[in-house]
Amino acid sequence: ETGARVERLPLSRFTTLGVGGEAEVWTVGNHAQLREAMSAPYRILGGGSNLVVADEGLMERVIRLGGEFAATDLELDPQLSTPEQLITGWVGGGVPLPGLLRKLQRLGYGNLEGTVGIPAQLGGAIWMNAGTRFGEAFDGLHSLEIASPEGTRTVTPLDLPWSYRDSGIPRNHIVTRARLKLRPSTPELVQEKMDAADTARKGQPKNRTPGCAFKNPTLPGGERLGAGKLIDEARLKGSRVGNAMIAPEHANFIVNLGGASAADVHALLALIRSRVGVHLELEYELWP
Ligand code: FAD
Repeated sequence: ETGARVERLPLSRFTTLGVGGEAEVWTVGNHAQLREAMSAPYRILGGGSNLVVADEGLMERVIRLGGEFAATDLELDPQLSTPEQLITGWVGGGVPLPGLLRKLQRLGYGNLEGTVGIPAQLGGAIWMNAGTRFGEAFDGLHSLEIASPEGTRTVTPLDLPWSYRDSGIPRNHIVTRARLKLRPSTPELVQEKMDAADTARKGQPKNRTPGCAFKNPTLPGGERLGAGKLIDEARLKGSRVGNAMIAPEHANFIVNLGGASAADVHALLALIRSRVGVHLELEYELWP
């Protein structure tokens, strides 16, 4: 009764792409349950918005954050807050980022507006310092709690070698909770900034997808190319394998038209790599 909830489930249910075979899913609500879940090989699942999970499923346990790791405490800490900087209580790593941003907008708290439209959980967004050219997860981070089989520690961003789209947190070290560092603003101003970041997404497809397929490559001379433009120039927009398709709206997105398999997506990734003359590095993670 006090243990983690353990179920064999298809991971297609937990990924934005909607593909992925079965695994043993451990939903944990407190540190005792998390420690038990980490006692055998595991992976930590967030919002599933950057993942292509194999049709065969996974051997490892998949840990999902629930309970106290999915709770939101936006009460300001009077010890840590100043007029310029508002520091919240602990927000769970398993809290979905879009709902959290809506709450912050209503309260008129800024700093995380640049991450609007990213369908991650807070912990997943922090783990890879997700963001846009309007801002990134670390802009609004005061401190965080990280759990691993070696124990639990609390760190600040200064303790981490974080950089562009990278927190420096080792793989499978779990961001369980974070305290947010926010800027006092007004609901109107926060909304304005979110609208600006949102407008930049207008051309993105509406179907199920794990976001951009490839990173924008840099040529040896330093020139940066657009992966979407390269794929478009190879005339691959609209190409289809099974029920997966290269989005007609934006060539760097592969979408699930309904019932696609991971194999369909892999076939499209291989097609792109065989037709684009420049080496393309994958943006999403493949599980396993
Ligand atoms: P998952 O996809 O579940 O996992 C990704 C990785 O994070 C895995 O290695 C996982 O183990 C790890 N992880 C997840 N949770 C935790 C945790 N609590 N602690 C430690 N590690 C964890 N990304 C951007 O940066 N900018 C964008 O503008 C953007 N736009 C997107 C738009 C769409 C429509 C989609 C589908 C994706 C987009 N992404 C974007 C990609 C994706 O949202 C980010 O990579 C995000 O950080 C993934 O977070 P997640 O919680 O979904 O993690």
